[in-house]
Amino acid sequence: KPVQFDRIVQESVNKMQMLAEVKDIILHCGIDSPVPMVADEERLHQLLVTVLDNAIKYTPEGGVVRVVCRKYTHSVHLEVEDTGIGISPDNLPHVFDRFYRGDKARTRQEGGTGLGLAIAKWIVERHGGKIRLESKLSTGTRVYITLPL
Ligand code: ATP
Repeated sequence: KPVQFDRIVQESVNKMQMLAEVKDIILHCGIDSPVPMVADEERLHQLLVTVLDNAIKYTPEGGVVRVVCRKYTHSVHLEVEDTGIGISPDNLPHVFDRFYRGDKARTRQEGGTGLGLAIAKWIVERHGGKIRLESKLSTGTRVYITLPL
C-alpha cells in the first residue's frame, strides 16, 4: 500500500513527545523531504514507536533524542540518536535477540519484555531493509534503519 514515510515518522514523534516532556527530554525531529513508499503503515508506526520508546526509556532526565530522516534515490535512512545510558560491547550483539534485556533493563521495575527490538528487526527485514545499533556506554545509542524505496 502507498504510504508517506515522513508522515509516519512525524506522527510517531508527535505521539512520543508527551512522554519525552514528562522526562524533561528534548525530542527533535528532522525530515528533509516527503518520502512516498509502498509499505505496511501500521508496522512502520510500531517500528518507530518501539525505537523511540527505547531511546526515551534509556535516557536520563535532561537528555536529548534526535530523529533524522533522509531520502535518497533508492532508499530512506532513519537515525534515532539518544544521550542515554548506552549499551556495553558485551550486550550489543544480543539486543536483537528475543527476550534479551540488558543488565540495567533487567533490574528495572517497570515493564519490558525484551521483544521490542526483535520485532523491530523483523519489521525492517520484512520491508527489505536493515537495522543496526551503535552505542557507547554512559554516552548514548544510535539506531540506523535503511529501507528501500
Ligand atoms: P521492551 O520489549 O519493552 O522494548 P526492552 O526495552 O527491554 O523491552 P528491547 O526493546 O528488545 O527490550 O531492547 C533490548 C535491550 O536493548 C534492552 O533491554 C536494553 O538493555 C537495550 N536497549 C535498547 N535500546 C536501547 C537504548 N536506546 N539505549 C540503551 N539500551 C538500549
